[in-house]
Amino acid sequence: MTQRTAIVTGAARGIGAAVAQRLASDGLQVAVIDLDESACASTVEAITSAGGKTIAVGADVSDEESVKKAVQRVADELGAPTVLINNAGILRDNLLFKMSVDDWDMVMGVHLRGSFLMARETQSHMTKEGFGRIVNLSSSSALGNRGQANYSAAKAGLQGFTKTLAIELGKFGVTCNAIAPGFIATDMTAATAERVGVPFDDFMKGAADATAVKKVGRPDDIANAASFFCDERSGYVSGQVLYVAGGPLN
Ligand code: NAP
Repeated sequence: MTQRTAIVTGAARGIGAAVAQRLASDGLQVAVIDLDESACASTVEAITSAGGKTIAVGADVSDEESVKKAVQRVADELGAPTVLINNAGILRDNLLFKMSVDDWDMVMGVHLRGSFLMARETQSHMTKEGFGRIVNLSSSSALGNRGQANYSAAKAGLQGFTKTLAIELGKFGVTCNAIAPGFIATDMTAATAERVGVPFDDFMKGAADATAVKKVGRPDDIANAASFFCDERSGYVSGQVLYVAGGPLN
């Protein structure tokens, strides 16, 4: 099998860290990208101590120059990146009447512009190799969520972006799919609990009760879905949005 190189953005912690470790255990070389290169140390350590090959790269996915440099560095040090997980994300929640333009723009910048820049920069490697896998992190919030006009718009936008890349890149052997997680226990959901003033354990219990399986998701639940989409054998699965949310959603 060809030795493939993957890029996972926002992989210093949470879902991104779990996806990076899972892809490494699947046999890929993995570039761990996050805003602060030193913050990637624990993910890199987990991968190398399990025998995987990885590098940490500091980059801001919403910045064109930063993305260009990061992708070039990955290509130079690990080889052509033909697997891309657009996972980096931020929240700037507020009700519409209190939402600032900065909070709107920042969320669009990281999720939508960031995924666009990363996909545009890596696609030439994928089309040249005749193989590629792009996975975008959407969210159940794409269906609408109070206080998240910016985030839900970005996550719904990523679904359209996903389907369009699937159509444009399919003939080059490149698939593009989206994972839309429900509630996953990470720093991001812990920060939301803190913002609304609910202890995280109570917050998780409420989220668990709202699912069919009566539990919250863990980063490994998302890593498992990403592993499936990135598998060489998943080449006939493209343009899909997989809700990983412990049950069906309306
Ligand atoms: P997280 O714990 O907050 O981790 C997000 C990571 O992205 C952080 O390491 C963060 O770095 C990094 N990041 C932020 N802005 C960046 C930028 N401009 N360039 C590069 N890296 C950047 O979040 P998570 O819960 O693992 O979520 C991962 C993805 O899943 C996000 O796209 C999120 O929207 C999506 N998602 C999560 C849930 C959930 O319940 N957790 C549900 C649905 C969807 P810093 O620490 O330096 O900010």
